[in-house]
Amino acid sequence: MDDYKILVEKARKFHGGICPGIVMGTRMTIAAMKELGLDPKERSHDLIVYVEIDRCMTDAVQAITGCSLGHRSLKYVDYGKFAATFINMKTGKAVRVSSIEDRSKDPANQSMEDAVKKLATMPEEELLKLEEVKLKVPENDIPGLPQHKAVCSKCGERIMDGRDVLVDGKVVCKACADRPYYQPAG
Ligand SMILES: [Zn+2]
Ligand SMILES: [Zn+2]
Repeated sequence: MDDYKILVEKARKFHGGICPGIVMGTRMTIAAMKELGLDPKERSHDLIVYVEIDRCMTDAVQAITGCSLGHRSLKYVDYGKFAATFINMKTGKAVRVSSIEDRSKDPANQSMEDAVKKLATMPEEELLKLEEVKLKVPENDIPGLPQHKAVCSKCGERIMDGRDVLVDGKVVCKACADRPYYQPAG
């Protein structure tokens, strides 16, 4: 549990506090990295992680692995699930880790401290499911220099990494091709 103590502290600092999600994310990261033959205390530049939720757990994954959106080594898949897939790009081995603990049996008045303690000490096989999976990281999603750049023919903004689309034979960004997530004010 020594690795756990060091790493949960790293996650706590990054997240700004301790909570069940941070404990869960720490234990997931340790289990998955070990399964891939990586030391969770060392930064691996061969690692890419797909996280399936944008909650506390994901901050622990980022804090411990150093994988981030900016490094293109952290990918967000919006499934709303407490799960993540860790890929060792050097070996190609990928492990998906998910939470199997059932908090519905916890007492309703359980304090956060008790929940944290329980998750920290639960046997791994009761807390996590690990499965080896296969996936190919698309070429345009791999860290490194951009392979593909374009300019939108409608708004004139730059589009990186092959995210441009063709509409009526013209190169456009996704915002111009479809409804953007924002609307012009006024
Ligand atoms: Zn939290
Ligand atoms: Zn555009």
